[in-house]
Amino acid sequence: TESRVYTGIVEDCACDYETVDSLNEEVLHLILQEIVATPFFRYFKVKLWCDCPFWPEDGMCRLRDCSVCECPDNEFPEPFKKPFTGLPADDLICQEGKPEAVVDRTLDSKAFRGWVEIDNPWTNDDETDNAEMTYVNLQLNPERYTGYVGRSAQRIWEAIYIENCPKYPSEEFCQEKKILYKLISGLHASISVHIASDYLLDEATNLWGQNLELLYERVFRHPDRVKNLYFTFLFVLRAVTKAADYLEQAEYNTGNPEEDLKTQSLVRQLVYNPKLQAACPVPFDEAKLWQGEIGPELKQQIQKQFKNISALMDCVGCEKCRLWGKLQVLGLGTALKILFSVDGQSHVNQSLQLQRNEVIALVNLLNRLSESVKFVREVGPSSDKIMERM
Ligand code: FAD
Repeated sequence: TESRVYTGIVEDCACDYETVDSLNEEVLHLILQEIVATPFFRYFKVKLWCDCPFWPEDGMCRLRDCSVCECPDNEFPEPFKKPFTGLPADDLICQEGKPEAVVDRTLDSKAFRGWVEIDNPWTNDDETDNAEMTYVNLQLNPERYTGYVGRSAQRIWEAIYIENCPKYPSEEFCQEKKILYKLISGLHASISVHIASDYLLDEATNLWGQNLELLYERVFRHPDRVKNLYFTFLFVLRAVTKAADYLEQAEYNTGNPEEDLKTQSLVRQLVYNPKLQAACPVPFDEAKLWQGEIGPELKQQIQKQFKNISALMDCVGCEKCRLWGKLQVLGLGTALKILFSVDGQSHVNQSLQLQRNEVIALVNLLNRLSESVKFVREVGPSSDKIMERM
């Protein structure tokens, strides 16, 4: 009954739009929503304090309404806790710039046995440096409209697109160079979808809801952006399934055996999903890339560009946007690491090693993309809801 706008194979991928939508809605979305609510996956370690290297005057967090809220003490899993907190309870509401919210440097080795400390060659933050890092409960800080607009936001996207991943001029452009642009554009589309799906419609009454006009203007009006969203979803999905053995064997210990067993079981359902394996076993085929003589050089160049994009996240002038920007860029960096840094002639003997934080970012990114794909399909660029607004 439904008339589809996007049909056929998702460009550069191995599945069609219909299959992606039905897999997402019948299987993946439900599993992912459960996974990201588990204690292991809902706490993300992040350096929120901004030290923007590009526009130093813009590094401060001014917008109170986009501050990130700290995990209330009573719901924080035991092993995650710092040995002492010197703060009175009512001071724990927003952790913006508070040195007291710093993570205990010894925590990871005590509480997260089995997880390595290893740097990600695709990202800028040194994930092994715990100083100034803090834990955030992602469930309490959903990605949505924050009022972060204007020059500060614009110039970040500008710097990303113009300096670090120019839109490819033609179809002849090599696939590797197109990929970085498509990944960023897909992520950008996903962020716009989340802004549109959870928007502050009326400040006076604090009414939140969908802003379909914004969705149309920023996403649907540009079919490429929708296509790039699907591409990014399949790319990250491929990384998750490629790392299946690693993810299945990892330790999801948060000190609550019942919850941790559930987490393990959900991860297994995601990475070895029979429906996914039957309908779309290799969502994206990375083996075709970096072939030929300029392969290694090209990879280095794209790695450098991605690192710059990762560094730009320190310049995002709204704390909650910075949190999700950092998480999702780390998630993309982790997908790139899984797909491109382990295999290949130059890394034959290197086996995959991921940090806990990388795994949390990867899975939360996949969930955000899955939500966006679902919302885009449900609302549909030709739906009555959108047409009414034209
Ligand atoms: P923008 O979204 O800023 O786009 C700027 C330009 O980029 C557009 O004019 C267009 O030329 C191009 N463009 C737009 N979309 C795409 C695409 N998908 N592919 C290719 N090119 C594109 N705001 C919030 O309310 N909540 C958030 O959580 C949030 N997170 C953010 C995270 C980051 C990392 C950044 C940089 C910004 C974030 N923002 C967030 C701000 C938000 O993304 C917009 O910048 C802001 O709402 C202003 O929108 P705009 O209409 O100026 O267009």
